[in-house]
Amino acid sequence: MACLFGHKWNGCKCERCGKVRNEQHDWNLCKGRCTRCHRVCGEQHDWDGCKCRHCGKTRNEQHDWDGCKCKRCNKKRDEQHKWNGYKCSYCGKKSRIGDITDQSILADISKNDADWLFRIAATAKLTDQSILTEIAYTDTNDYVRKSAVRKLTDQSILTDIVKNDKEEMIREAAIANLTDQNALAYAAQNDKANSVRKAAAGKLTNQSLLEKIAQNDNDEYVRREAIRMLTDQTVLANIAKQHMRSSLRAIAASKIIDQPLLMEIIKHDADEEVRVAAAKAITDPIYKKELLTLLCDHGIHQWVETDSGRDPWGDCYTDIKCEICGKEETMWLPT
Ligand SMILES: [Zn+2]
Ligand SMILES: [Zn+2]
Ligand SMILES: [Zn+2]
Ligand SMILES: [Zn+2]
Ligand SMILES: [Zn+2]
Ligand SMILES: [Zn+2]
Repeated sequence: MACLFGHKWNGCKCERCGKVRNEQHDWNLCKGRCTRCHRVCGEQHDWDGCKCRHCGKTRNEQHDWDGCKCKRCNKKRDEQHKWNGYKCSYCGKKSRIGDITDQSILADISKNDADWLFRIAATAKLTDQSILTEIAYTDTNDYVRKSAVRKLTDQSILTDIVKNDKEEMIREAAIANLTDQNALAYAAQNDKANSVRKAAAGKLTNQSLLEKIAQNDNDEYVRREAIRMLTDQTVLANIAKQHMRSSLRAIAASKIIDQPLLMEIIKHDADEEVRVAAAKAITDPIYKKELLTLLCDHGIHQWVETDSGRDPWGDCYTDIKCEICGKEETMWLPT
């Protein structure tokens, strides 16, 4: 009851009892409230273009553009950049790699940009072999080095990479452009990574070396690749008849031309995958006929429909006949 005989007003608020009156507020227009009683009046800034002179608040209108950037609030826009090479010297935006054709700018990006994905994209568009070589040897990111190696054509550099690079995927990438048979033979026999030996084997032409790899490599996929590259029919026949692993006999069989030999494999190989591969390699019509007769003996016929209809009880029937051995059967489909 301290204010029974009158309040002690300080602006809108009584200092003694805390009562508030709706006059003499201390408006903070930037905050839109009275600083003493917090009554709301709505924000009213003192705009200077996009920025309030008092509180520094910004709005997205009336910017003071200088090229791509607002001089007052630093807002950026994607137009009127100040290009310096491939970067905007104002906002740092980079050109799309697709839009850059200048090899010296591409070289600059490939060698110096901090973003490795950007370096890869630029490297993929480079043609200068000496810059590509430098990147292949020195970039700190293996994926960037790989994209450079993919574009190299110099056989002696590729050979050096295949023999000495520590990264499996780099050596594998180098093999893709390697045509030097000596270097490929070296990698196919000596590389410690299966993927690299396989890639090298896949480019070899030397038949006796391929046979050696097919017989001796300790990785199944390398051996398969070697057999896939074999064309020497004597070697293929040897593998198809004698290799311990059925999957490798099957690949060899699929490449054999000698039709009687294929029939022999079909009749005698213990593994179905090998027999099927040999059967698929039969191309001569005479041997195809012989193969089909053999299948009939094993109960696999080549059926064709000869008649169909309904019997007096309403069941559907279909008469079929084997084209090869003449065996006839009727199939029933009850309604
Ligand atoms: Zn009071
Ligand atoms: Zn107030
Ligand atoms: Zn303000
Ligand atoms: Zn602005
Ligand atoms: Zn810019
Ligand atoms: Zn038959």
